[in-house]
Amino acid sequence: MKIALIAHDKKKNEIIELAKTYKEVLEKHELYATGTTGTLIMGETGLPIHRMKSGPLGGDQQIGAMLANGELHLIIFLRDPLTAQPHEPDVSALLRLCDVQSIPLATNATSATIMLEALKNKVYFS
Ligand code: PGA
Repeated sequence: MKIALIAHDKKKNEIIELAKTYKEVLEKHELYATGTTGTLIMGETGLPIHRMKSGPLGGDQQIGAMLANGELHLIIFLRDPLTAQPHEPDVSALLRLCDVQSIPLATNATSATIMLEALKNKVYFS
Protein backbone atom coordinates (compact mmCIF):
# COMPACT_ATOMS: atom_id res chain seq x y z
CA MET A 1 0.00 0.00 0.00
CA LYS A 2 1.20 3.53 -0.71
CA ILE A 3 0.87 5.78 2.34
CA ALA A 4 1.42 9.56 2.60
CA LEU A 5 2.58 11.21 5.83
CA ILE A 6 2.23 14.96 6.32
CA ALA A 7 2.24 17.15 9.42
CA HIS A 8 2.04 20.86 9.98
CA ASP A 9 4.91 22.26 12.02
CA LYS A 10 3.25 22.11 15.45
CA LYS A 11 2.22 18.50 14.77
CA LYS A 12 5.60 17.20 13.62
CA ASN A 13 6.48 15.75 17.03
CA GLU A 14 3.22 13.80 17.00
CA ILE A 15 3.82 12.29 13.56
CA ILE A 16 7.38 11.34 14.56
CA GLU A 17 6.04 9.57 17.66
CA LEU A 18 3.44 7.74 15.53
CA ALA A 19 6.10 6.70 13.03
CA LYS A 20 8.32 5.39 15.83
CA THR A 21 5.46 3.50 17.48
CA TYR A 22 4.28 1.96 14.22
CA LYS A 23 7.63 1.58 12.46
CA GLU A 24 7.13 -2.16 12.02
CA VAL A 25 3.77 -1.52 10.36
CA LEU A 26 4.93 1.35 8.18
CA GLU A 27 8.06 -0.41 6.91
CA LYS A 28 5.84 -2.94 5.12
CA HIS A 29 4.43 -0.15 2.94
CA GLU A 30 5.71 2.40 0.44
CA LEU A 31 5.90 5.77 2.17
CA TYR A 32 5.57 9.28 0.75
CA ALA A 33 5.76 12.59 2.59
CA THR A 34 6.04 16.31 2.17
CA GLY A 35 9.64 17.54 2.40
CA THR A 36 10.19 18.54 5.99
CA THR A 37 7.92 15.88 7.46
CA GLY A 38 9.70 13.20 5.45
CA THR A 39 13.18 14.38 6.38
CA LEU A 40 12.32 14.42 10.09
CA ILE A 41 10.68 10.98 10.08
CA MET A 42 13.55 9.45 8.12
CA GLY A 43 16.06 10.97 10.54
CA GLU A 44 14.22 9.71 13.62
CA THR A 45 13.20 6.24 12.38
CA GLY A 46 15.38 5.31 9.41
CA LEU A 47 12.24 4.48 7.41
CA PRO A 48 12.71 4.99 3.65
CA ILE A 49 10.40 7.74 2.41
CA HIS A 50 9.83 9.31 -1.01
CA ARG A 51 9.97 13.02 -0.29
CA MET A 52 8.03 15.65 -2.19
CA LYS A 53 8.63 19.39 -1.99
CA SER A 54 7.88 21.07 1.31
CA GLY A 55 4.13 21.58 1.79
CA PRO A 56 4.09 25.37 1.43
CA LEU A 57 6.25 25.06 -1.71
CA GLY A 58 3.94 22.67 -3.54
CA GLY A 59 4.38 19.36 -1.72
CA ASP A 60 0.70 19.10 -0.82
CA GLN A 61 -0.15 19.59 -4.49
CA GLN A 62 2.30 16.86 -5.49
CA ILE A 63 0.63 14.49 -3.02
CA GLY A 64 -2.73 15.66 -4.41
CA ALA A 65 -1.63 14.82 -7.95
CA MET A 66 -0.74 11.30 -6.85
CA LEU A 67 -4.17 11.01 -5.20
CA ALA A 68 -5.88 12.17 -8.40
CA ASN A 69 -4.01 9.46 -10.30
CA GLY A 70 -5.12 6.78 -7.84
CA GLU A 71 -1.53 6.29 -6.66
CA LEU A 72 -2.04 6.67 -2.90
CA HIS A 73 -4.12 4.47 -0.64
CA LEU A 74 -4.02 6.04 2.82
CA ILE A 75 -3.18 9.54 4.07
CA ILE A 76 -2.10 10.69 7.50
CA PHE A 77 -2.14 14.48 7.55
CA LEU A 78 -1.80 15.89 11.05
CA ARG A 79 -3.20 19.38 10.64
CA ASP A 80 -2.71 22.31 12.98
CA PRO A 81 -6.20 23.78 13.32
CA LEU A 82 -5.01 26.73 15.40
CA THR A 83 -2.48 28.29 13.04
CA ALA A 84 -3.19 29.98 9.69
CA GLN A 85 -1.31 28.24 6.88
CA PRO A 86 -0.09 30.20 3.83
CA HIS A 87 -0.91 27.19 1.64
CA GLU A 88 -4.41 26.59 3.03
CA PRO A 89 -5.90 26.25 -0.49
CA ASP A 90 -3.49 23.37 -1.20
CA VAL A 91 -4.41 21.72 2.09
CA SER A 92 -8.14 21.98 1.36
CA ALA A 93 -7.66 20.63 -2.16
CA LEU A 94 -5.77 17.61 -0.86
CA LEU A 95 -8.44 16.82 1.75
CA ARG A 96 -11.15 17.20 -0.86
CA LEU A 97 -9.42 14.76 -3.21
CA CYS A 98 -9.36 12.14 -0.46
CA ASP A 99 -13.15 12.35 -0.36
CA VAL A 100 -13.42 12.35 -4.15
CA GLN A 101 -11.41 9.13 -4.27
CA SER A 102 -12.77 7.71 -0.98
CA ILE A 103 -9.25 7.41 0.39
CA PRO A 104 -8.88 6.95 4.16
CA LEU A 105 -7.63 10.18 5.73
CA ALA A 106 -6.56 10.84 9.33
CA THR A 107 -6.20 14.49 10.30
CA ASN A 108 -5.30 13.96 13.96
CA ALA A 109 -3.14 11.54 15.92
CA THR A 110 -6.03 9.59 17.45
CA SER A 111 -7.57 8.86 14.05
CA ALA A 112 -4.15 7.98 12.70
CA THR A 113 -3.63 5.52 15.56
CA ILE A 114 -6.90 3.77 14.72
CA MET A 115 -5.85 3.50 11.06
CA LEU A 116 -2.39 2.19 11.90
CA GLU A 117 -3.90 -0.35 14.31
CA ALA A 118 -6.20 -1.47 11.48
CA LEU A 119 -3.18 -1.96 9.24
CA LYS A 120 -1.26 -3.73 12.00
CA ASN A 121 -4.13 -6.14 12.60
CA LYS A 122 -4.77 -6.54 8.88
CA VAL A 123 -8.32 -5.26 9.35
CA TYR A 124 -7.82 -2.84 6.49
CA PHE A 125 -5.82 -3.31 3.34
CA SER A 126 -6.15 -1.98 -0.16
P1 PGA B 1 6.35 20.01 5.33
O1 PGA B 1 4.93 20.35 4.75
O2 PGA B 1 6.37 18.57 5.68
O3 PGA B 1 7.32 20.32 4.23
O4 PGA B 1 6.54 20.91 6.52
C1 PGA B 1 3.77 20.05 5.48
C2 PGA B 1 2.70 21.02 5.17
O5 PGA B 1 2.71 22.12 5.75
O6 PGA B 1 1.82 20.75 4.35
